[in-house]
Amino acid sequence: LTELLDVSEARQKLLEVFEPVGGQRVPLAQSAGRVLAANIHSDYDLPPFANSSMDGFAVRVDDLHTASREKPVTLPVVADIPAGEVTDLELQPGQSVRIMTGAPVPAGAEAVIPVEDTDFNARQPGLPAPARVSVYRPVVSGENIRPRGMDIHTGEIVLPAHQRLRPQDVGLLAMLGVKEVPVFKRPRVALFSTGDELLPVEEPLRGGKIHDSNAYILSAQIERYGAEAVYMGIAKDLEDAVSDVLEKAAREEVDLILSSAGVSVGAFDFVRKVVEENGRLGFWRVNMRPGKPLAFGHYRNIPFVGLPGNPVSAFVGFEVFVRPALVKLSGALDWVRPAQRVTLSQAIESDGRESYLRAVVVFNEGKWVARLTGHQGSGNLRSLVQANALLIIGSGVKSLPSGAEVDAWILDGSTAGLAPDQA
Ligand code: AMP
Ligand code: MG
Repeated sequence: LTELLDVSEARQKLLEVFEPVGGQRVPLAQSAGRVLAANIHSDYDLPPFANSSMDGFAVRVDDLHTASREKPVTLPVVADIPAGEVTDLELQPGQSVRIMTGAPVPAGAEAVIPVEDTDFNARQPGLPAPARVSVYRPVVSGENIRPRGMDIHTGEIVLPAHQRLRPQDVGLLAMLGVKEVPVFKRPRVALFSTGDELLPVEEPLRGGKIHDSNAYILSAQIERYGAEAVYMGIAKDLEDAVSDVLEKAAREEVDLILSSAGVSVGAFDFVRKVVEENGRLGFWRVNMRPGKPLAFGHYRNIPFVGLPGNPVSAFVGFEVFVRPALVKLSGALDWVRPAQRVTLSQAIESDGRESYLRAVVVFNEGKWVARLTGHQGSGNLRSLVQANALLIIGSGVKSLPSGAEVDAWILDGSTAGLAPDQA
């Protein structure tokens, strides 16, 4: 009835049902962090015209063969080209033109000699060009000229579909004049908590009750990975309450319904019953710690994930299973999270399940060193708050000595995958 699954097996089975959501177009300024839904081709050569990479003088090679600091070659300066202007002048033998970085190189010019290598080593704004310039060295053809199309040719694919747009990507789109960007929609996730013991944060604690912290943790995780959280509130441990909240979630046109608690085998756990009656549900025991029970199925054809109730279990379950699903839903391909090899500064005991341990990882004397934070019980949120990483202790491992190396997920160190409004 309930199979025991490896973490990677469970994640693979879960990922199979998720496909990217549909596409939309967003203004360029809102596209950072979004995932491209189509290949981007360039309509231009970039740079669009040959231009100078230095402030200096456009010159011809043959005029300067003999130039040196002791015996400079002096040329008349026949024009002045600031960035942003074009000239129809064609440089003749024996002439030079003052030119600024980024300005189009005039026809006939073969190189740009930087101001530093002339007697006019000045570039204060507003300073008029000199009538003549003395050049201190020869030049080679093409020197300090960025040719048209040096970076990109018309028609080339410059950004592939499924790429998550980083600041530099957005800059390239701007260079290409892309005002609206085809991206995948942000996945929408309905979220609810279950349990008679839960109070909204607005209410003071009273006998036997605790605040619903999972709603806040999970909403923030959903948003952090670029999806939209739609919080549906707390469902009491009653069949009707669970049924109501699931119905409400189904009407929200979401790509995933996520719950916490109520999936362990307890007398009051109705989530399982309600989902099974209106869809299908797998009830998994995953060989991991924390967060062994995981419910996965469909409620009225919407994928449903039921995370365990303890806050740390919910958090870790999200990072292990829901984050990759959101990445896949969002159209990106980078759902495998990079791990960092770290060295243990203490011996560690484990119970043979694949364990995700709360730790602080610091860079110390040339290596990343990890120590555990506080009590590792799945209800102890404080030790997760004190941690900046999760150490991954493989299944089958019962103990590791100090100095052993393990994989770690750095939780805070990277903004990879963050949506623009959360980054
Ligand atoms: P359950 O999965 O319903 O057996 O819950 C496991 C543990 O998690 C219990 O101690 C619950 O009180 C706690 N818990 C469940 N839901 C939440 C929540 N939303 N916020 C904080 N703790 C919770
Ligand atoms: Mg409960």
